[in-house]
Amino acid sequence: MTARILVVDDIPANVKLLEARLLAEYFEVLTASNGEEALRVCEGGLIDLVLLDIMMPGMDGFEVCQRLKANPTTMHIPVVMVTALDQPSDRVKGLSAGADDFLTKPVNDLQLMARVKSLVRLKTLTDELRIRAQTAKDIGLEALLDSGGLEDNEKGLTLLVDGRSNSQDRISQILRKTADVTVMSDPQTALFEAAERPYELAVVSTNFRHYDPLRLCSQLRSLERTRFIPLLLVCEQGEEEMVNRALELGVNDYIIRPVEPNELIARCKTQFRRKRYNDRLRSSVQHTIELAVTDPLTGLYNRRYLDTHMQVLMERSTARERPLSVLVIDIDRFKAVNDVHGHDVGDVVIREFAKRIRLTIRGIDLACRFGGEEFVVVLPDTDADTAQAIAERLRERIASSPFEVGKDGLRLDITASVGLSALSRSGETADLLLKRADMALYEAKNAGRNRVVAKQAA
Ligand code: GH3
Ligand code: MG
Ligand code: MG
Repeated sequence: MTARILVVDDIPANVKLLEARLLAEYFEVLTASNGEEALRVCEGGLIDLVLLDIMMPGMDGFEVCQRLKANPTTMHIPVVMVTALDQPSDRVKGLSAGADDFLTKPVNDLQLMARVKSLVRLKTLTDELRIRAQTAKDIGLEALLDSGGLEDNEKGLTLLVDGRSNSQDRISQILRKTADVTVMSDPQTALFEAAERPYELAVVSTNFRHYDPLRLCSQLRSLERTRFIPLLLVCEQGEEEMVNRALELGVNDYIIRPVEPNELIARCKTQFRRKRYNDRLRSSVQHTIELAVTDPLTGLYNRRYLDTHMQVLMERSTARERPLSVLVIDIDRFKAVNDVHGHDVGDVVIREFAKRIRLTIRGIDLACRFGGEEFVVVLPDTDADTAQAIAERLRERIASSPFEVGKDGLRLDITASVGLSALSRSGETADLLLKRADMALYEAKNAGRNRVVAKQAA
């Protein structure tokens, strides 16, 4: 793992010390000796993590952190506060400033590395999502972030897994201030529960009698349905070794007993905020993919999707020696609809036409708007005779009932012509198959429209 880390401290000796340790692990290191300089370097956009001193002349670490987190170009950079202060109140202050973690001076080597590695890993994931989300044309990243705030009264759905009832009571009581909590004492049952509901945080205690809590953490990380749930470990003093292993496993945060209520709440809120941010990025990526393959007017697949997916369907049919047919469907005299009633009415007709196609075919069939008023349907597992019957049913469904176009009860009689071809035994390319269906369509048009024509391989 390689990453670029910014070390910020007003005392040169402190900078040198951290720099040397990070360089030894092959991280790239930049340094800054005050807040302004730190902000400037971060705005340059190439920093993966900031190690930030709190007490500095001028702008202190809290303010630097706050500014980084308030700026859309730097808010995703993880910040670890490095401090001589070890008061819970300072940790809470730092967490509310948006700090992702704390290290206390003198800095423990193992903890430094575990923290840095786990935050860099998280950053890599977020970066990837950010890059993909940014390719979405109609979704600005800004809008995404605007709605990313956690409402004060909105509680995060949280699963508390704890082996002892008095500890359960105490921790759940604290959590209820910011979370909607479900408590479980058996780790295996908890794993199933976590997969059942959309949890936004799992708080896992290390206090089980005959169970390794890291096993639950690693299972939560590997299950498809739970791997994005943030994990917060509640451990005892002296369990640093376990904490380090937990962070290596991908546990997001930890807190040491005795649990300070405000610190626990602040840490939970940080996890909720991050989870929601990443969820939003992820769903916008999903949305981008859908946009890329969907025709906006009809919701059918677009031509780009047909080009790649038809090849897949054909290869599968050939390999399994199963039939496959395609229909090329074109609305008859559609130009006249536009000319007489206008383009908007034309659009309504196209949309209704697509709907009738969808109602005629099965879920495994691939329907696509090929362009203009022309559609392609790929029918896997369907021979020419069956395809002919399906095409006939579609033609009938279009011709038999007029299209209501909404304007003054206007109803239009629409017909369509269909060209059909079936995959020949010799196997052939998608292009050839489509070309044959296109020739069949041309014949259907010439023969008077509102009909289905099939064309066999020569
Ligand atoms: P034919 O029976 O030979 O297919 O005649 P046609 O009029 O349907 O064929 P032609 O290809 O001459 O005209 C198709 C028309 O479809 C022309 C074009 O303006 C219109 N068209 C293409 N895409 C859209 C669209 O998205 N919305 C609307 N309203 N019209 C469109
Ligand atoms: Mg037409
Ligand atoms: Mg046409």
